[in-house]
Amino acid sequence: MSVPTQFTGPADSRMLRRTFGAFATGVTVVTVGGSTPHAMTANSFTAVSLDPPLALVCVGRDAMMHEALAECGGFGVSVLASEQEPVARYFADRRRPVGDAQFEFAEWLPGPCTGAPLLAGAAAHFECKLWRTYDGGDHTIFLGELLAAQRHAAADDTLLFVHGAFRRLAEPSEVTT
Ligand SMILES: Cc1cc2nc3c(=O)[nH]c(=O)nc-3n(C[C@H](O)[C@H](O)[C@H](O)COP(=O)(O)OP(=O)(O)OC[C@H]3O[C@@H](n4cnc5c(N)ncnc54)[C@H](O)[C@@H]3O)c2cc1C
Repeated sequence: MSVPTQFTGPADSRMLRRTFGAFATGVTVVTVGGSTPHAMTANSFTAVSLDPPLALVCVGRDAMMHEALAECGGFGVSVLASEQEPVARYFADRRRPVGDAQFEFAEWLPGPCTGAPLLAGAAAHFECKLWRTYDGGDHTIFLGELLAAQRHAAADDTLLFVHGAFRRLAEPSEVTT
């Protein structure tokens, strides 16, 4: 077994990014509606609390989504299904168009609670009211109170992200908690 590399400070951000990347996550697209709708691929989405129902997403301070989320009262989250890797890549691509035009790439419906676009074919949808924001260094932690949550059994096989690559589940194994 190789000797673990020590984290020695900000200069090691590439190593830190690679090491964080060992933690497998799902992949979401976070959206805001309104007059300047916007969408961004995010894997920092995390369930936080059941009572009250809360979830968070961390957004880089230099991302366009940062300002959009800070200004909006609510946001949507689409948990991507395994065949939606192109959608994940598209909404992470800085060259995509802004505003309404970016949504021509994917089918969507406005969320009934927030009006935020919810992407068709997703494994689950959430709509959140912005509850609190917290300083997260070069990111801000946006904590949302869930207004709606919907799981779509037809798209049960969710897209994964680990070691800097998109993956699919090989074989699901159930955990009961
Ligand atoms: C698997 C995966 C997971 C990710 N998870 C996260 C995550 O959890 N959190 C996170 O923060 N990032 C995450 N990212 C990165 C994120 O998806 C990309 O950085 C994405 O491009 C950010 O989108 P954005 O629109 O907010 O910002 P940008 O990409 O900066 O902006 C998008 C477009 O808007 C233009 N633009 C920028 N600012 C303005 C402006 N003021 N006026 C007009 N046009 C402007 C840009 O030129 C670009 O065309 C992830 C990426 C991947 C692949």
